[in-house]
Amino acid sequence: MTDEVKKLAIIGSGPAGHTAAIYAARANLNPFMYEGYVVGGSAGGQLTTTTDVENYPGFPEGVSGPELMQLFRSQAARFGTEMVGEDVHEVDFSQRPFRIKGDETEVQAHAVIIATGATAKRMHVPSEEKLWNQGMSACAVCDGALPFFRNQPLMVIGGGDTAVEEATYLTKFGSVVYLVHRRDELRASKIMAKRALENEKIDILWDTVLEDAIGDQFVTGARIKNVKSSEVKELDVAGIFYAIGHTPNTQPFKGQLDMNETGYLIVQPGTQQTNVEGVFAAGDVHDHKYRQAVTAAGAGCAAALEAERWLGEQGIA
Ligand code: NAP
Repeated sequence: MTDEVKKLAIIGSGPAGHTAAIYAARANLNPFMYEGYVVGGSAGGQLTTTTDVENYPGFPEGVSGPELMQLFRSQAARFGTEMVGEDVHEVDFSQRPFRIKGDETEVQAHAVIIATGATAKRMHVPSEEKLWNQGMSACAVCDGALPFFRNQPLMVIGGGDTAVEEATYLTKFGSVVYLVHRRDELRASKIMAKRALENEKIDILWDTVLEDAIGDQFVTGARIKNVKSSEVKELDVAGIFYAIGHTPNTQPFKGQLDMNETGYLIVQPGTQQTNVEGVFAAGDVHDHKYRQAVTAAGAGCAAALEAERWLGEQGIA
């Protein structure tokens, strides 16, 4: 660790982290960003695992998620954001300046913005460990186009917008897509639910849960149970895709920052301020309500403005 103390460290490089970096860099805060692993890691956040983003303003024809994040990154870099491709495993917010430990790099910073996002949840059925990435995945848009899913029956678990979006996407490749939902009504928004209900290639299995995946080296089927009738049956499928929500990436902050019962950081109402003065949060790491790229970007902007103001009050910026 060098003795140099950064004015502002940003942890995370999705829309929230990069927007915070753009604002902070333009305000001469020389932000230092832990962007996560660049190859096969968390850098760029969840949008790097999506295909078309149609609702990000400014792109009337849509834009691919990875391309959008590359644009965010270039803009943050253009104004001088210093970035390292490391994950953060440990922080110490009990002393000032704060200390942040990445895989190799440790820095001290007067202020911190946490924008570590959230990660897709898994069910951990018995065969999951064996068959993970062998037909089981939590990201249809990342893996669905692989050749072994072509013209095969596929399965998506969940009933929210993500499940519907992923099932719809998979209809491009699979022969049929079973949408397995534990209740008798979709949680997805009306427009998305309508798309699923009207899609002839989507077969919704209501009141149904996944009991296990079947297969030796690769998924060949799924054992499912109807929770009302208790009937258990096996279906041939080549892929099982979870779309059951997300867990916030807040492990390194446990015991130091206030979180709700599901681990989302708590910010003071109307601000991005956590319970530790000088530590701010932005994006999916604290927002379990909207979880959109544009709301994350907005929160990143607000966090940077608040950090700038706070550093000014401390006579640092
Ligand atoms: P979500 O809305 O929390 O839905 C999760 C779904 O998974 C629910 O249907 C839930 O069932 C089910 N589920 C959760 N745990 C389960 C378990 N252990 N076993 C079986 N099923 C389980 O999550 P999401 O779909 O990822 O959406 C998150 C947010 O992003 C939402 O605000 C959504 O609107 C937004 N989003 C928007 C778009 C879009 O507009 N294009 C696309 C994707 C996501 P229950 O319904 O029974 O709780």
